[in-house]
Amino acid sequence: MQDLSTLEAWFVTGSQHLYGPQALQEVADHSQRIAQALSASPRIAVRVVFKPVLTTPEDIRRLCLEANADDRCIGLIAWMHTFSPAKMWIAGLQSLNKPLVHLHTQFNQAIPWSTIDMDFMNLNQSAHGDREFGYMVSRLRINRKVVVGHWEATEVQQKLDTWARAACGWREAQQLKIARFGDNMRQVGVTEGDKVEVQARLGVSVNTHGVGDLAKAVDSVSDSDVDHLMEEYESEYMVVDSLQRDGARRESLRVAARIEVGLRTFLTEGGFGAFTDTFEDLHGLRQLPGISAQRLMAEGYGFGAEGDWKTAAMVRIMKTMAAGLPGGTSFMEDYTYHMDGESGSLVLGAHMLEVCPSIAADRPSCEIHPLAIGGKEDPVRLVFTAPPGPGIVAGLLDFGDRLRIVANVIDVVAPAEPLPKLPVARAVWKPKPDLATAAEAWILAGAPHHTSFSQALGAQSLRDFADMAGVELLVIDGDTKVADFQKELRWNQVAYHLAQI
Ligand code: MN
Repeated sequence: MQDLSTLEAWFVTGSQHLYGPQALQEVADHSQRIAQALSASPRIAVRVVFKPVLTTPEDIRRLCLEANADDRCIGLIAWMHTFSPAKMWIAGLQSLNKPLVHLHTQFNQAIPWSTIDMDFMNLNQSAHGDREFGYMVSRLRINRKVVVGHWEATEVQQKLDTWARAACGWREAQQLKIARFGDNMRQVGVTEGDKVEVQARLGVSVNTHGVGDLAKAVDSVSDSDVDHLMEEYESEYMVVDSLQRDGARRESLRVAARIEVGLRTFLTEGGFGAFTDTFEDLHGLRQLPGISAQRLMAEGYGFGAEGDWKTAAMVRIMKTMAAGLPGGTSFMEDYTYHMDGESGSLVLGAHMLEVCPSIAADRPSCEIHPLAIGGKEDPVRLVFTAPPGPGIVAGLLDFGDRLRIVANVIDVVAPAEPLPKLPVARAVWKPKPDLATAAEAWILAGAPHHTSFSQALGAQSLRDFADMAGVELLVIDGDTKVADFQKELRWNQVAYHLAQI
């Protein structure tokens, strides 16, 4: 899993020379103290790095160019402590290609009623200094987030963290390489898409690798590496009797372990952050990767089944955004329903095999069962249930003239009864506002059956990410009404057509 604490958000303060060196020194001092406090805050995942106060167009532009070039910099936190005439910012903002959050705060939390004078007023004027900056960012049509409130407030730091995590996801997208073993599941529509468009828009690069090359990597795995991984399976999971030493299916566990070592080696050597496979193209592999895909996801890899590289990208990006937070993130599929009116209707989410154990409520069970399709040997898989709690599912689709992300806010619930015959990992949830509304809106939006499911992130994380990416986002939540949602779909069609994005 990625360590976000090595990444940096640069804290950038705007001012001007009009105030004289003493005032500028105070501005720098305040700014440094805020940056240090934000950096030290356990609520913010990245480092916050103070940068010298900016007072000229040249300095502003140079700072933006440095931010663009620095791999550790995920974006800028901008604050106008005093008044910073915004024409100074045009060249810098136009050259900036990193995410921007505008922190509309002030150093003092309260007005010092009994002592306030014009010196204080002139030093602490972000109330209008930030409005001048906001005009220019809006005028230049630059997407950014605006966070308002005192910098010590919990909710302000949490909003900055949500933005910073989205910016880490955006940074990850820029460098993400996806290995696609085989092509798409035959005839499936929504998992197709324009790889060039996705790379141009999100940075994600998707390239195909013959499954035979993966099979070769699997075949060259040493017996000792397989033995070592078998021990890990035995210590981490409840392994069913048939897969235990001297069990009738022991050899199948060895095959699964060999696939896992080979797959991990292939992905590591190629620098991949995500992968896809398809049960229709497994030539040379004895099982559809099950436990291996599950465990690689738990390590942070993105995954999409049936060639679904867009969901693989979303899983990887969302895992990056969620790094270190409680709750897991997984590849998921809406599988079947419990239809019981407005309050009782539920989704049973699962997949043939590939659900990430980061969402397991309890120690997973390592099992083997037949797979009805694909014509390969029975695959080994981890079986478990996701814990109750809030979550989100998100799908990325190619809408022909643009990309669209659709997200549904959900409440994961405990299954009403045990599921003793279900041989796959699963999550049961109640979509917001209710199944009928959520599914109707989801289908009207053309959203996919595969999703990235997360119990670590909320809708705001995706809003921040979609804004950075300039990608359409539709959120289905507790306030959604289908008639309004249909209007949003129609309006977006026009807006994105006019904006040509
Ligand atoms: Mn599927």
